[in-house]
Amino acid sequence: MACTTPACQPHHISVFSWVRDIPKVTLIIGTTVSNNAYVVPGECTVCKTHYYPDHKDFPSPVYNQQREIHLNSARYLKIGQTLWVDRVFSKAVLSATYNFHASANAYTQFWNDSFGNVTTKVVLGRPQIWQAFVHESTRMVATALEEDFETDANAKVDERCSMAARSLSTNTYATRPGY
Ligand SMILES: [Zn+2]
Repeated sequence: MACTTPACQPHHISVFSWVRDIPKVTLIIGTTVSNNAYVVPGECTVCKTHYYPDHKDFPSPVYNQQREIHLNSARYLKIGQTLWVDRVFSKAVLSATYNFHASANAYTQFWNDSFGNVTTKVVLGRPQIWQAFVHESTRMVATALEEDFETDANAKVDERCSMAARSLSTNTYATRPGY
């Protein structure tokens, strides 16, 4: 694994956390739930870009603050404090929304009745399904535009929605990789 910033390549990525601070999370892969997943952050010690499974953040001299690039190629997405899902899960949320006109509430109920509760002891909430919808939607648009969606670091999900809408209307959805 190497830093993708053009000026750094191919500098290696170091583990960016004490082992004791690496969070243990719940990971849903398709309909299978694992309660023993770990999120290991990485850092390029040259450009100070931090790498996570679904995004990378970096100190932006243009914005004078940390910015975040949401990776289209992410295999897993964070949809809750300690909850991650794979792209099969998030694509299913998107598909159900458009094909069945399912609301976030309806999909939450469907998932809990089908795969949560008794079977896996996991109960999802509407905000988590909504996050899956937003994260998958913004990546779908970014992929179609052959761009990466970029926001302020740690933007809340609703802020990401408005940033995406604003960026689309002004044709500045994202920056190209490499900033
Ligand atoms: Zn770097």
